[in-house]
Amino acid sequence: MNEPARDDPLETPVQFVRGVGPRKAELLAKLDILTVSDLLWHLPRDVLDLTDVRPPDELVEKVEQTVRGTIVDVDARQVSGGRTMTAALIDCGGEYVRGVWFNQPWMLKRLQMNQSVLFSGKPKRHQGRWEFPHPRVQWLDDDDSSTAADAAGNVLPRYGLTEGLRMHEMRRMTRNAAEDFAPRIADPLPASFRDTMNLPVLHEAVLRLHVPRSMSEYEAARHRVLFDDLLEFQLALALRRRAWSRQDEAPVLNTTAMIDARIRRRFPFRLTDGQEAAIRDVVADLRSGAAMHRLLQADVGAGKTVIAVYAMLVAVACGYQAVLMAPTELLAVQHAETIGTILEGSRVQPALLTGSLTAAARRETLEAIRRGDTQLVIGTQAVIQKDVEFAKLGVAVIDEQHKFGVAQRAHISAGDANPHVLVMTATPIPRSLCLTQFGDLDLTVMTDLPPGRQKVVTSRITGEGARQKAWDFVKKQLRAGRQAYIVCPLVKGEAASDDGPRGADVIYERVVRALPDFHVGLVHGQMDRAHRSEVMDHFRDGALNVLVSTTVIEVGVDIPNATIMIVLDAERFGLSQLHQLRGRIGRGAFQGYCFLFSESSAPEAAQRLHAMEMTTDGFRIAETDFELRGPGDVLGTRQHGELPLRIANLRRDAKILQEARREAFALVGSGDFDAPEFAPLKGRVLDRFGRLMDLPQSG
Ligand code: ADP
Ligand code: MG
Repeated sequence: MNEPARDDPLETPVQFVRGVGPRKAELLAKLDILTVSDLLWHLPRDVLDLTDVRPPDELVEKVEQTVRGTIVDVDARQVSGGRTMTAALIDCGGEYVRGVWFNQPWMLKRLQMNQSVLFSGKPKRHQGRWEFPHPRVQWLDDDDSSTAADAAGNVLPRYGLTEGLRMHEMRRMTRNAAEDFAPRIADPLPASFRDTMNLPVLHEAVLRLHVPRSMSEYEAARHRVLFDDLLEFQLALALRRRAWSRQDEAPVLNTTAMIDARIRRRFPFRLTDGQEAAIRDVVADLRSGAAMHRLLQADVGAGKTVIAVYAMLVAVACGYQAVLMAPTELLAVQHAETIGTILEGSRVQPALLTGSLTAAARRETLEAIRRGDTQLVIGTQAVIQKDVEFAKLGVAVIDEQHKFGVAQRAHISAGDANPHVLVMTATPIPRSLCLTQFGDLDLTVMTDLPPGRQKVVTSRITGEGARQKAWDFVKKQLRAGRQAYIVCPLVKGEAASDDGPRGADVIYERVVRALPDFHVGLVHGQMDRAHRSEVMDHFRDGALNVLVSTTVIEVGVDIPNATIMIVLDAERFGLSQLHQLRGRIGRGAFQGYCFLFSESSAPEAAQRLHAMEMTTDGFRIAETDFELRGPGDVLGTRQHGELPLRIANLRRDAKILQEARREAFALVGSGDFDAPEFAPLKGRVLDRFGRLMDLPQSG
């Protein structure tokens, strides 16, 4: 976290910290802790607050308190109204206290006999005993009791460890390092700014994270380092926004009543309220003279294409070119078909630009775009960014942007043209995350769907009996003429263990045997494209009743008669991914059914699949996914690297994020950030994000 000079004491090998030595240094190396600085920045993952632990006979009703005890009994059962109740009895030195949880069956796994725990919450008397409804639980390590005495206070930091390293040893080492070396840490924030923001100086914060004397001191210290993390990120976004606005002059595209009427006539339906509102936002941006940088967020099937087409046709009507970029060739082709139909009989025709054009066709298309003869271009982002030169580009629309992440988006407005940019994403993104990932864009959210959509009935299926019943149901539906998807997490292979996942190829063989009366097909990403689309065509034609597949069907498939989906090993998919998959069924006149097969006993898995049963609202699902699995899965950024934050957690730290965002945009907006006193901070921002976000290195 520090940018050291060569003789920086913080870069001293960690073995020279008091109480470390060569043997422990070897263990620390497994945690990537090589230097003093690494050890100082090995921050506690949480702390154990023992300040307010009370014996049960001192508890009072309805006030937040903590008790400490050993689990002596755990049970879970059904209670009235179909609810489950999980309860744990703890022994607090001869007196017993109970914790109870309703509808949180996963708690059962987390409560083990003989574990030492803290229960925090507001207790009440129940059947002559203290009971904590839904208490917060802290699990104590074996070390926690023994080291309480030698800690500075009653607040004990807890660290990520590695085998052979005990908690109390880690505590001693971080404490020694903090006491001897923390004062050497330079603070990138100017004192005046720290004072206004009421932030402790950085070296003091680091010391108090490792050696907290009270909860409030620890919280203040933690706030400081989280704030730094988020502030630097938001400053990067603010700088990028400024870089954009400096080259912000864009063509004034004025939507006259005549243009509006001509465009609307192209859609064979009434627009939804959400679409109307989105069009108002876009129209205002286009006529403002400043370039649009807008994110349009809406669930699958909400009708985002309408907005894209509207924006592009305004550009064309005003004498400019427009481009639509899709993340995959399949989507680009599909957009070209849809938009071709919408524009049938008009003078405007879209040109499709993908990797599979012949060299000659490609050359010709590129030439027409360069001359300005072609007004509307559709293609994959890669192709368009690589070789297209526009004569007069007015509007660029980027579909399914979340698949690309921050870095990829940075290059859109590169080149001479400075078009209006509309980014569309189908994966609903929780607001706090959105602020971060797309914090430099204006936001439009469409929450309504076109009329007539029906909810897919979703069930989590566990156990042999339930599976059998689900298959019987599927067979009945197939006999009635419906079609079914069976989605597998893997392309190939037998399961490593009895209940491990099997590949689509193995499942295919089994389904063929299990459903002798039906025609079954197989598609996955490792098949060549021609073969794959042949199978898809058969499924679309109805020649196949059942399609075994991997997630290749996630995007771009629309077969109204396919109303059944079975997802195998469903816990292996992200919630947002399941939501996208489920979006493939229930598009026609028949009720859709989705069965999530899962034998996983992980509490988190049950909880996630339960969320799928309960709601079809993509935004809610995204929130849950985010809460349970973190941002990587929601954004599908695994492949593109995690969100570039060090320690902050966007959900947990949402309030600090808001604060950091406000300050960052104020600092950059007022020009204060360019003062010399902020130079160290700016250096850090550029180090961390300069390349990732394509920030100008000065100014
Ligand atoms: P998205 O890209 O947001 O997932 P699409 O733009 O592909 O959604 O639209 C999904 C389907 O809904 C398309 O078949 C489209 O024709 C239809 N549609 C869009 N807007 C409306 C509307 N206002 N009324 C009825 N159908 C609509
Ligand atoms: Mg779309």
